[in-house]
Amino acid sequence: MSLKLQNIAIIGSGFLGLTLALRLAESGAKVTVYESAPEIGGLASAWQIGDVVWDKHYHVTLASDAWTRKIVEEIGLGDEFEWVETKTGFYTDGKLVSMSNTLEFLQFPPLDLVSKFRLGATIFYASRVKDWKALEKISVEDWLTKLSGKKTFEKMWKPLLKAKLGEAYRETSAAFIWATIQRMYAARNSGLKREMFGYVRGGYARVLERFGEHLREKGVEIHLNSRVESIEKSEDGRIRIFAAENTENTEKIQRTKRKAISAHLKNLSEISVSSVANNSFDKFDSVILTCPSNIAAQICPQLSETEKARLENIKYQGIVCASAILKKSLSNFYVTNITDETPFTGIIEMSALVDKAEFGGNALVYLPKYVAPDDELFEKTDAEIKEVFVTALEKMYLHFKREDVVAFNISRVRQVFPLPTLDYSVNVPPVRTSLENVFIVNSAQITNGTLNVNETIQLAERFFEKHFEN
Ligand SMILES: Cc1cc2nc3c(=O)[nH]c(=O)nc-3n(C[C@H](O)[C@H](O)[C@H](O)COP(=O)(O)OP(=O)(O)OC[C@H]3O[C@@H](n4cnc5c(N)ncnc54)[C@H](O)[C@@H]3O)c2cc1C
Repeated sequence: MSLKLQNIAIIGSGFLGLTLALRLAESGAKVTVYESAPEIGGLASAWQIGDVVWDKHYHVTLASDAWTRKIVEEIGLGDEFEWVETKTGFYTDGKLVSMSNTLEFLQFPPLDLVSKFRLGATIFYASRVKDWKALEKISVEDWLTKLSGKKTFEKMWKPLLKAKLGEAYRETSAAFIWATIQRMYAARNSGLKREMFGYVRGGYARVLERFGEHLREKGVEIHLNSRVESIEKSEDGRIRIFAAENTENTEKIQRTKRKAISAHLKNLSEISVSSVANNSFDKFDSVILTCPSNIAAQICPQLSETEKARLENIKYQGIVCASAILKKSLSNFYVTNITDETPFTGIIEMSALVDKAEFGGNALVYLPKYVAPDDELFEKTDAEIKEVFVTALEKMYLHFKREDVVAFNISRVRQVFPLPTLDYSVNVPPVRTSLENVFIVNSAQITNGTLNVNETIQLAERFFEKHFEN
């Protein structure tokens, strides 16, 4: 059937779903997006922290993120990027040190000169490796220990791996660190002399506001607050979707009528809420799921047992991430890596990158803790998490006082990214399913990259090209 005659549903309005919606609508298909949250954007969505509207999770764009930059350009915000040279810090042995250039690396206190040389050589070597599939066969621990030595692994690599992967670092392949280092190098090799990080003025709230408008202009319908509960093939060959109203979100929808202090934003909810689904059945010619793999297995009961097992086999890493508006900056580092034991696994100071005017003159700091989806931290209240995190900040930064906290929000996501386990790419579920015209395309299919918006958009563009473009 020609695309122009097709009625297509997309499950999920993260960057994957939005990019697919755009390409399909441009090709003439009638597109409906179902999103269980009260706003579009998924992991990249924005929320209100005190008087500020900014990303729920810290986001930067690298100069080398060509796919992201192309989409931002297409929706008319290409000139709105700010590019900033940022600094990186390390909190190690109770001290905060800068590690933003070669000289600082050479002076880095916790490692002796030989260990530093091995560390530098490991990073350089990883940047040159092309055969990432071979690295999927080796555990990241074995690979890094072999290249950097036991001492450097224990002192540097292990805390950094645990910061992102928790205890699951033991099951993770060397392809994980290879992809991370490749992204770091891509930033340096993007034609700019220095490593520059970028953001769109107004943050992802603004990008998504404009993306929502753009899709509406192309005729895309977006059902917010609509959780898809089942997808079934009917006897007439069409695909039936049942979407239920996500009642947990009714109150949140009211709250998205924001009083943003940012001059760059309109009222996000007026733009992005096309409609809110009532409990309803709808029929489509094709359905594309962009939600996590285990959810896809749950909502498609007609998939074969083998397909469901393969989807459920993907292990995810989750996150509990605090966003704090503070009266004063903690430091001038965009990222502070932590090698000591602290309740969060890194510090991202957005206001070291973004003009403080965006935050009413205050600092915006993120405190992420990456955890397994069943970690007990998910059960803790906001007040409990805040107490532990703020107490740790007071110990780490002598000038910081809890009275400096203006606002403190906590995001909890159980499925953020799939763990790149050994032989990951061999076991990845395919995008085509045994149900004709039902596709599953999600971040589990990123096999040789890290999770970022650029990879996500690329995945959507490649999928569209292969399966829908003539
Ligand atoms: C802490 C953190 C920091 C990050 N930093 C960066 C960064 O600096 N730079 C960068 O480029 N990227 C960054 N990323 C990654 C980026 O956010 C992701 O690559 C991207 O948002 C993934 O988009 P997606 O569409 O694949 O998935 P998601 O954004 O997860 O979208 C999936 C959507 O499906 C919806 N959904 C799920 N189930 C259902 C259902 N049953 N019915 C209806 N809807 C459903 C969800 O609500 C969600 O909106 C970061 C992510 C995190 C968490």
